[in-house]
Amino acid sequence: MRRHPALGLALLAACARVPGAGEKPPEPGIPLTLAESRASAIENVRYQLAFDIPAAQTSPVNGRLTVRFVAKATPAQPLQLDFDAPAEPNHLMSVAVNGKTVELRPANGHVVLPALALAKGENAVDVAFVAGDVPLNRNPEFLYTILVPARAHEVFPCFDQPDLKARYTLELTVPGDWQAVANGAETSREPAGDRVRIRFAETQPIPTYLFAFAAGKFQIETGERNGRTFRMFHRETDEKKVARNRDAVFDLHASALKWLEDYSAIPYQFGKFDFLLVPSFQFGGMEHPGSIFYNAASVLLDESATENQMLNRANLIAHETSHMWFGDLVTMRWFNDVWMKEVFANFMAAKIANPAFPKINHELRFLVSNYPAAYSVDRTAGTHPIRQQLENLNEAGSQYGAIIYQKAPIVMRQLERLIGADTMRDGLREYLKRFTFGNATWTDLVKVLDDRTERDLATWSHVWVEEAGRPLFRTEWQTNDEGRRQIAFIQRDGRSDRSLHWTEQMEVLLGTPNDAHDLLLETKSERTEVPDGMMPRQVDFVLPTGGGLAYGGFMLDDTSREFLLAHVEELKDPVARGATWITLWEEMLNGLVDPAELLDAQLRALPRENTEQNVQLVVSELQDLFWQFLAERVRTPLSANVERTLRAGLARASTSSLKSTYFSAFRNTVTTPEGVGFLERVWRRTEKVPGLTLAEPDEATMALELAVRSVPNAAAILEEQRGRFQNPDRKARFEFVMPALSATPETRDAFFASLAEAKNRRREPWVTEGMSYLNHPLRAAGAVKYIRPSLDLLEEIKRSGDIFFPKNWLDALLGGHNSPSASTAVRAFLDEHSDEQQTATGKPPYPARLRRIVLQSADNLFRAADIVPTW
Ligand SMILES: [Zn+2]
Repeated sequence: MRRHPALGLALLAACARVPGAGEKPPEPGIPLTLAESRASAIENVRYQLAFDIPAAQTSPVNGRLTVRFVAKATPAQPLQLDFDAPAEPNHLMSVAVNGKTVELRPANGHVVLPALALAKGENAVDVAFVAGDVPLNRNPEFLYTILVPARAHEVFPCFDQPDLKARYTLELTVPGDWQAVANGAETSREPAGDRVRIRFAETQPIPTYLFAFAAGKFQIETGERNGRTFRMFHRETDEKKVARNRDAVFDLHASALKWLEDYSAIPYQFGKFDFLLVPSFQFGGMEHPGSIFYNAASVLLDESATENQMLNRANLIAHETSHMWFGDLVTMRWFNDVWMKEVFANFMAAKIANPAFPKINHELRFLVSNYPAAYSVDRTAGTHPIRQQLENLNEAGSQYGAIIYQKAPIVMRQLERLIGADTMRDGLREYLKRFTFGNATWTDLVKVLDDRTERDLATWSHVWVEEAGRPLFRTEWQTNDEGRRQIAFIQRDGRSDRSLHWTEQMEVLLGTPNDAHDLLLETKSERTEVPDGMMPRQVDFVLPTGGGLAYGGFMLDDTSREFLLAHVEELKDPVARGATWITLWEEMLNGLVDPAELLDAQLRALPRENTEQNVQLVVSELQDLFWQFLAERVRTPLSANVERTLRAGLARASTSSLKSTYFSAFRNTVTTPEGVGFLERVWRRTEKVPGLTLAEPDEATMALELAVRSVPNAAAILEEQRGRFQNPDRKARFEFVMPALSATPETRDAFFASLAEAKNRRREPWVTEGMSYLNHPLRAAGAVKYIRPSLDLLEEIKRSGDIFFPKNWLDALLGGHNSPSASTAVRAFLDEHSDEQQTATGKPPYPARLRRIVLQSADNLFRAADIVPTW
C-alpha cells in the first residue's frame, strides 16, 4: 500500500487518539448535516473491498477494505466513516489511517477518524471487519446484497450517502462450485485452497446504495443481442421454464436498452450487462448498474401467464433498465428526491413497454392504478408534498407511499403535456449529459426544462411538487341573457392559509352518452371557461375528469351529478366510466352523493360493465361503501341485492381473475343467512364454484370470515381449518390470528393486550390481519375501546417495526369503524398530542409524520361519522 507523502511528524503523535470522554458522540443514522459536510470536505472516493464468503450460512463473512479519498483542505474536524454492524460480537477488527493503526470503536454506527490523522489531499483508511449479515440476505446456497437506501454501512465501513459516488474494486473468495456477479466485469478467477477467488473490474462512479454483489450456486444463461452479451444468473430447476422464457427476457432487455440509448442520446455507460433472478426477492427489481436483481417469479413466467403478467414483466424490465440512466448515471443528491428516479423509470417504462400490448387499455390502467390511491392520501389533512424534508437517511422509508408512487406519475404526465414531449426529451437529454456520473436535484432539472419553455416551470413545480394537496374544482353551469349556456370550472385551494393555483390540462367530456364531446382545456388561475363555439347542441352532463386526465377534487354541477349517477353505464368510453366512478366516490365522501344511491348505481351498472379494470374499481368501491358508509338499518335490506349481483358476476365472469374479484367481494360482504350458508358450503367443499380454484389462503380467509360472522359452529370451523393446512407458515399465521376471531370478548381482549409487547408484533402481516378482524365492522361497537391504546402504541410501533407498519397498523385499526364515538376517540388523541398540549405538558412535539398518517388513516372514519346517520 502506498504511504501518503504529506504525512508529517505532527500526525504521528496524534494517530492513536480516540474521541475523548468529553466529546459528543456522533448522531445515529446519516443526518443531512453530516452528508452535507462530508460532501464538501472530501471527493474522489475509491473503495477496494474483499469479502471471504463461507459456504455455511451462519459462519461470519470477513471483509477487508481500503477506502481512499481526497480531502479538499487540511481537515479541521474529525471525519465520520459509517459502520453499523452489531457491536456484539465485535465486527470491527482493525483500523489504520494513512498507515497508522488506531484504536477505534463504532459509536452510534460511525467510526470517527481524528482530524489529526488525516491530511489534505490523498488519504487511505484500511479496515478489517466482519460484515453485518442482514443486508447480505444469506440463504443456504447463495447470498445477495440489498443496500438501498443506506444499508451499505451495515455491511462495510463507507460514506453511506448518494452524493459521494465512488469507484469500487471487489474481490470475493467463495466455495469452489459457486458463481458470483457484481457491478464490474469478472476479470480473474483463481483457486484459493479448496475455494475460488474472483476479482471484478473497477466500477464507474456509483453511489453506495447501488453497489451490489451476489454469490452462490447459480446457473448462467447467455444471450447476444445487437452486439452485446447479456447474462442471466438464476436458480430455476425447471429447464423448460428457463428455455421458454430466455429469449423473451433477453429481447426485452435489448430493446429497452436500445430505446433508452435513442431517447437519451447517451450510450449505456456501465460496460457489461448481467442480471440475477432471486427466488422470493423482496422487491420486483433493484437497478444495480451492470447487475440488476429481479424477483425470479416476475421474470420467468408460467405457461399460463396472462397478457397482464406479460405486460408487467415488460414494464419491470424496462423500469430497471431505465434506471441505468435515471438514478444510476444521474443520481439524486439526497433521498428526498428518490421519487424522481422512480417516476422517470415508470414514465420511460410505459413508453417502452405499452406499445407492444395494444389489446390493453393503457389509459384506463393508468387512471385506475394511480388516481384513487393518490386521492386516498391527497384528500386528507395528513397529505404531504411529493418532495419532502428528510433530515436523516434512517427516516428515508417515510418518503415512500401513494404520493410518490401514484401522484408523482400523474404530475409527470401533466408536465410532459404542458411543455410537449419533444421539449421534455431534449431537456432530459441535456440534464443527463450535464450531470453524467454525478448528482442532481429536482430543482436542477426544473431549471434545465424552464430554459426551454415559455412557461413558468418554477412556479408550476412549487405548486405541484413542493406543496401538499390538490386543487378543488366546481362546475358552474349558467344560462346567460341570450339563453346561451355557459360552462366554467372554478378552482380554489382547499387550504385557507395559501391561495395556490394549479395549472393542468383537463380533458372534459360533455354532451350525451351517444354524442359525447371531448374538450381539451388548460386550467386558468381561477376560472376556466368552455369556449362558446365548443358547446354541443345537447348537454346532459359535464364531466371535467372524463378523459382521465384532470387531477383534483371535482364537484359536479347538480344536473350532471344526477345524470351520471343514473346513466354511468351508458358512457361508451371505458376511461369515462372509470373517471365517473372515481369522481362520484369523491362526491360521496364530500356528502354530495347519498351512499345508498351510489350503491344502487354500482349494482345496476356491474352487470353491464365488460372492462375488467372497471369491474375491479367498482367492486372495490362497493365493499368500502357497504361497510363504512351505510348505517346498519340501510345496509341490511340492501344485502340480498348486493349478494345476488356479486354471485351473478361470479357466474358470468369469463376470466379466473375476474371470478376471484367477484368471489372475494362476496366473501367480504356476505351477511344474509342464505349467502353465509353458501359460503360455508364452499368452504366445506360440498359446493363448487365452476371455474374458481381456491387455494389454501382462500380457504383460510373463508374460515375467518365465517367466524367473524359468528356462525353457530364458528369454533369448530376454525379448528377444522387449522387441521387442513399443509403449509406450516400459513398454519402458524392462522393460529396467531385465531384468538382475534373468538366468540368470547375476553379472549379477543387478551389477544389485543398481547400486541402491546414488541415480541408479539414481530410478524407484522399477521398482526394487521388480527387487528382488522378485531375491528371488523360487525364487531366495531365493542372494539372502540381498542382505538386509544392502539394510538398510544404508535410511537413504539414505529421504533420497533418496518417502515410501512405504522400505516398498516392504523388502517387495520380504523378501517372497520364509522361511529361518532370512534371518530371522537381519534380526535381526542390528536388534540391531546397537539404541539400546544405537548409544550404545555413539557413533552417534545409529537412526531409530525405519525400525526400525518393518523390523519390519513382516519380520513374515511371522520367522513363516515359525519355522513352515516346513527339512528
Ligand atoms: Zn425503481
